[in-house]
Amino acid sequence: MDLYEYQAKDLFAKHGVPTQSGIVVTTAAAARDAAEKIGTTVVVKAQVKTGGRGKAGGVKLAETPAEAQEKAEAILGLDIKGHIVHQVLITEASDIVEEYYISFLLDRANRTYLAMASVEGGMDIEQLAVERPDALAKVAVDAIEGVTAAKAAEISDAAGFAPEIRDQIIDILQKLWVVFIKEDATLVEVNPLVKDPSGQVLALDGKVSLDDNADFRHPDHEALVDNSAVDPLELAAKEKGLNYVKLDGEVGIIGNGAGLVMSTLDVVAYAGEEFGGVTPANFLDIGGGASAQVMADGLEIILSDPSVKSVFVNVFGGITACDEVANGIVQAIALITEHGHAIDKPLVVRLDGNNADLGRKILTNANLSVVTLEDTMDGAARRAAQLAAK
Ligand code: GDP
Ligand code: MN
Repeated sequence: MDLYEYQAKDLFAKHGVPTQSGIVVTTAAAARDAAEKIGTTVVVKAQVKTGGRGKAGGVKLAETPAEAQEKAEAILGLDIKGHIVHQVLITEASDIVEEYYISFLLDRANRTYLAMASVEGGMDIEQLAVERPDALAKVAVDAIEGVTAAKAAEISDAAGFAPEIRDQIIDILQKLWVVFIKEDATLVEVNPLVKDPSGQVLALDGKVSLDDNADFRHPDHEALVDNSAVDPLELAAKEKGLNYVKLDGEVGIIGNGAGLVMSTLDVVAYAGEEFGGVTPANFLDIGGGASAQVMADGLEIILSDPSVKSVFVNVFGGITACDEVANGIVQAIALITEHGHAIDKPLVVRLDGNNADLGRKILTNANLSVVTLEDTMDGAARRAAQLAAK
């Protein structure tokens, strides 16, 4: 899960990283009140889970409460790389003498953690990384050893931080490492980390990604979840415990096993080329024990997607035999009809593997008008694509 800047900075503050906290508001009037309360020149900052807010006009200084209201008015509702701004952070403005960059991340390719640091931080760090990679120090961090004072000094010196701020940088690096480890993050980034005229170094921005696999260790992370930007179908699927990902196409997909579902997406996309570029509408893996209830839950989610024009149920019977899956489909259709939803989209079903013949017989005997049986995966993909193109 990616955090908003204000949430990242809350975590920084919790672990002693110097930063400016502020007030999060959703209206321009509240921005004015917040600026009034802070009582200094403030920065009005768009809270969206993407970078480059500064360049997109999502970060603005305001000298008076009236100006804060005006700036908030302009920023709220802004579309920054597809993210609509619904909230802004009002925070005390800092005078900036220099801008730096620091991050910790998981370096998957090298199977280790990585620290990156630069004395040339700010809005052009991506460009810097490409054009002058030497200006961005990269230091591997051993997972067991972590960022000791010596490691922090190594990172600071590799980046070339000046002697008068070296101790502060070493301290901040160690504290950010604690954020990274204690909060189970996969990314902790500060850009810019700044030096103010008094020589104090502090984090002006924060980007943190938390590892969802470690959620069980962090009951307090639940409060950081914001579902307002999550696709409603994905949210509904998550509540039902389904492995569902919304895609852009027209053919709804249900399969058992992530590998089979992924290859199903490929086959449908390939078959769809013949019918004007029809593509899959989703990924949905109902897993090994494809019970009627799970099948019904999956079908219900897919059928409620207005862009779905046909559904391809692709099952390879293994531990769960095809006759059980076929019964599951029959019961699922009955369940959905009971819930008062008419099934008005064609279902193409391909059953193969354990007890496939029996499964097909069950579906044939059930005599469901919306169901078409196909023998092969390619044939079924083609049929589903064709039906979706109509
Ligand atoms: P990003 O563009 O999404 O990374 O947003 P940042 O929070 O990094 O802000 C972008 C830029 O706005 C920073 O690089 C700073 O130059 C500027 N900025 C942000 N906060 C302040 C502040 O308190 N004072 C001043 N003078 N500039 C700021
Ligand atoms: Mn930034």
